[in-house]
Amino acid sequence: MSMITLALSKGRIFDETLPLLAAAGITVTEDPEKSRKLILPTNQPDVRVVLVRATDVPTYVQYGGADLGVAGKDSLIEHGGQGLFRPLDLQIAKCRVSVAVRAGFDYQGAVTQGSRLMVATKYTSIARDFFASKGVHVDMIKLYGSMELAPLTGLADAIVDLVSTGNTLRANHLVEVEQIMDISSHLVVNQAALKLKQAPLKRIIDAFASALPQG
Ligand code: AMP
Repeated sequence: MSMITLALSKGRIFDETLPLLAAAGITVTEDPEKSRKLILPTNQPDVRVVLVRATDVPTYVQYGGADLGVAGKDSLIEHGGQGLFRPLDLQIAKCRVSVAVRAGFDYQGAVTQGSRLMVATKYTSIARDFFASKGVHVDMIKLYGSMELAPLTGLADAIVDLVSTGNTLRANHLVEVEQIMDISSHLVVNQAALKLKQAPLKRIIDAFASALPQG
């Protein structure tokens, strides 16, 4: 029996994937919030979960460090999606990618007068494509976290970040000025594993599909 390795990130993606795993008869038998382990066993001896950073899920699955994984559309776009089979939109961990600026900043003026916009973001591919499609020149500053600080400290005019409730923006006196795209998490599968471990992977993919809202 060959081992099936599923890559997940801690937090919303892990929590919202659990009911889908349950539909496949899989229960994770350790709580990632209480354990320091990065490899979690399940009730099925041939299925294990590896915990990786959300942005690393596509990379683990691409190179076969995991056979399948759950990754946000944001992470998939930034990664590029090479070597990944993407059978299902799981419709979990939903949010959006938006542009936000400091309250009072004249964003419309900044993007219509043809001046350059300083944009700080972790999502440089998404941001670059979006502003290119608007014909806006941007200077991109790559950040890895706490994007909200950038407009407040003068590092950038605008940020491109994930927004869910909008509470984080409001708490930092930022306003959402454009919505770039809706985000949800997708199931991704290593293309070689799909051939070599076809039966057990198909069983999991089918169970996930049957547990989705539209059946
Ligand atoms: P909120 O305050 O609910 O708008 O959430 C915004 C914060 O949570 C930002 O720092 C985002 O990077 C993060 N966030 C929101 N939704 C998600 C998601 N689906 N996946 C990962 N991070 C998220």
